[in-house]
Amino acid sequence: MYDTISKIYACLDGSYCTLESCSKMSGYKAEYFWRYNDKDKPISLPAITVCIVLKYIHNLFDWINDLAEDPDVFPPEYESYPKNFRPTVKKILSRLTRVYSHIYCYHYEELKSIGLSQHLNTAFKFLYYFILEFGLSNEAELALLQEVLDNLSLIGKCISN
Ligand SMILES: [Zn+2]
Repeated sequence: MYDTISKIYACLDGSYCTLESCSKMSGYKAEYFWRYNDKDKPISLPAITVCIVLKYIHNLFDWINDLAEDPDVFPPEYESYPKNFRPTVKKILSRLTRVYSHIYCYHYEELKSIGLSQHLNTAFKFLYYFILEFGLSNEAELALLQEVLDNLSLIGKCISN
């Protein structure tokens, strides 16, 4: 799931998702803030010379990569999973949905023009049904995802940028 959305976003980053096009990390009905550590207050990343969204999403992908390579979080086969495995996976998936939300709100037409919208829709549906099947999201987040999934005409009705 991470691999797919990181490849899709790579087609936008630097060309469509830029400092000029996206002034904050937002998506459908939400603005997203970054936390370097769980105990930190969520902050809006500074957009000085780099697109804030690009920085946010790259931070997110680095964070997921670090977790995926940490054997204490994702142990090798035949070992038991740590107690915080499920909350960690929930957090990863929740943050990944923010990338979809941003892309659907601000870059869907661009993805469509380069022939990637069907890949985005398929990847998003897979993520949604995975989250639903394994109960990996809270009701409010699920309702928001369901809204996007049910009605793709919602695309473009985002909070103001
Ligand atoms: Zn963007």
